[in-house]
Amino acid sequence: MTKLQDPFGRPIEYLRLSVIDRCNGRCLYCHSGQNEPLLRRDWLDFDALERVVGLFARRGIRRVRLTGGEPLLRKGLAELAARIHALPGIEELALSTNAALLAPQAEALYCAGIRRLNISLDSLQPDTFTRVSGLKLDAVLDGLNAAKAVGFSPIKINMVVMQAINAEEIEAMVAFCQAQGFTLRLIETMPIGTAGQHITHAHYLSLHDLEQRLQHRFGLEPVSLQGGGPARYLRQRGSDFYLGFITPLSRHFCATCNRLRLTADGRLFPCLAQDKAVALGPLLRGGYSDAHIETAIAHALAHKSIPPPLSVNTPNMLKRDMNLTGG
Ligand code: SAM
Repeated sequence: MTKLQDPFGRPIEYLRLSVIDRCNGRCLYCHSGQNEPLLRRDWLDFDALERVVGLFARRGIRRVRLTGGEPLLRKGLAELAARIHALPGIEELALSTNAALLAPQAEALYCAGIRRLNISLDSLQPDTFTRVSGLKLDAVLDGLNAAKAVGFSPIKINMVVMQAINAEEIEAMVAFCQAQGFTLRLIETMPIGTAGQHITHAHYLSLHDLEQRLQHRFGLEPVSLQGGGPARYLRQRGSDFYLGFITPLSRHFCATCNRLRLTADGRLFPCLAQDKAVALGPLLRGGYSDAHIETAIAHALAHKSIPPPLSVNTPNMLKRDMNLTGG
């Protein structure tokens, strides 16, 4: 069985699977409220999701990240996770969540085979946190404590850095993550979706210069950490604290992209920053053969490109908020 490869010869081994577009949060950079929600009847059911991930796995996908929207809102997520984890070829199952609903589900998700967690946490100040995310900080901290107690590892905190909103809190977040044993990843705002464009225009902060300052301040040195994603990592000398930088604007990483994205209704996006997608949903629902679906996947992959670099002034073309495609 030939492995998935894009037109540039890049092996594609990573699938981001959005299981729902709805979210209990309202992050300033993610949720404009202007995209029509998907119709529930269009969501891929668990049989379709298991089947399609199985097809991807046969062609070389080894890592799957469940995302959304907020994946914990999808009923039965632990059952879905266990079914994906059991597929031959899947070596790693990860989850991106805002953790507000994690505490009661943490153990079941761990038992289902999820080990790696990325958790959005943009502020440790309750008011700022609620202003940015629409969520309550206490619920998220409960989720984090539960995740730690159950044994997820690594737990990575995603902090989207916004000038004049939370940029002043980076050092406090470093201290928190060091103390808790979490990896911290600082993320630049991306002008993707209406919300992302708005926040990037108003609050973008380049992490490029900040990186040097933090490097000196915390005694950090570059390491090659196998994260499989776009983050570059520094490690604090003499400790196991890692600080990651995800810099889609100030230092592009599209050239090393190894992933595909599938939305909850089965649209396969070869690139987050482009609108091209191939609709697998009708094929999965319509009784089409595996060969047919694999041809559609190959078709999507043929369109995987290296897009023009994102910038603060990227024209307002991408209307699709991140909660649809999954971060
Ligand atoms: N609800 C889950 C969560 O909060 O992690 C999963 C989905 S959320 C879309 C995943 C990640 O997308 C967030 O951690 C955030 O870092 C990222 N994200 C969303 N919109 C973004 C934007 N405009 N710029 C940068 N990162 C963004």
